Amino acid sequence: MLSIQNLKASLLDGTPILKGINLEVKPGEIHAIMGLNGSGKSTLAKVISGHPAYKVDSGSVEMDGKNLLELDPASRANEGFFASTQYPIEIPGVPNVEFLRMAVDSKRAYLKMGPISDAEFNDRLNEAMQLLEMDERYRTRGLNDGFSGGEKKRNEILQMAMLLPKYAFLDETDSGLDIDALRIVSNGINHLHNQNRAVILVTHYERLLDYVKPDFVHVLIHGKIILSGGPELAKKLEKEGYENLEGNV
Ligand code: ADP
Ligand code: MG
Ligand code: MG
Repeated sequence: MLSIQNLKASLLDGTPILKGINLEVKPGEIHAIMGLNGSGKSTLAKVISGHPAYKVDSGSVEMDGKNLLELDPASRANEGFFASTQYPIEIPGVPNVEFLRMAVDSKRAYLKMGPISDAEFNDRLNEAMQLLEMDERYRTRGLNDGFSGGEKKRNEILQMAMLLPKYAFLDETDSGLDIDALRIVSNGINHLHNQNRAVILVTHYERLLDYVKPDFVHVLIHGKIILSGGPELAKKLEKEGYENLEGNV
């Protein structure tokens, strides 16, 4: 289980952003986190990942019994936490395929396994690229270099498919996607989700949740989860907006 208890975190200048987050995600569950811009959703993903722009003031983040806050970012990933970022960065000159191979081998080294064989790597990559309807050219292009918004989001799910994390935090994986790309990305997420792999989706739009069905929906506003419910909560938000919500709690 990924267990976040009373997590408070701030910028290095002391500005508080997360003001006591409580969230428990069990293997196999799908959670959606919704909320207005600037609420702290991306910060939550970054703090769990160990991003150096934030400091944790109090609270805990445990993943399958391990204290993630004690680990460096690479170890958190190697333990099975995956974060797909809202704005994937471009790294020209690093071919996508090399990046994926390094990521896979770094995780294997952490788990005391030898490097992946060419055959296994290629089989898995071909399968994942088929799933995400990505053609051969994406293997050798620089990581996200000149990719469109939708291609970057697909490439994030490709990384997820290669790393097979236990907990995947997908930050606005649906934003900027046309309907075809949304279908492909959702299909990829649904394919990768299983009883051992949990997914946390950050989204502004209820639309994604028609494709990837969440078990739980949370509303994060001003650094706190102010409301949690089932999928019906997303429908309600879509209809009524966030404005009236804060008065209700
Ligand atoms: P969301 O993802 O919910 O839209 P964010 O987590 O990106 O919100 O941001 C929450 C608040 O924290 C915003 O006001 C944002 O400007 C601020 N913030 C987050 N990260 C930084 C940073 N590295 N430097 C300055 N302000 C930041
Ligand atoms: Mg964000
Ligand atoms: Mg999302």
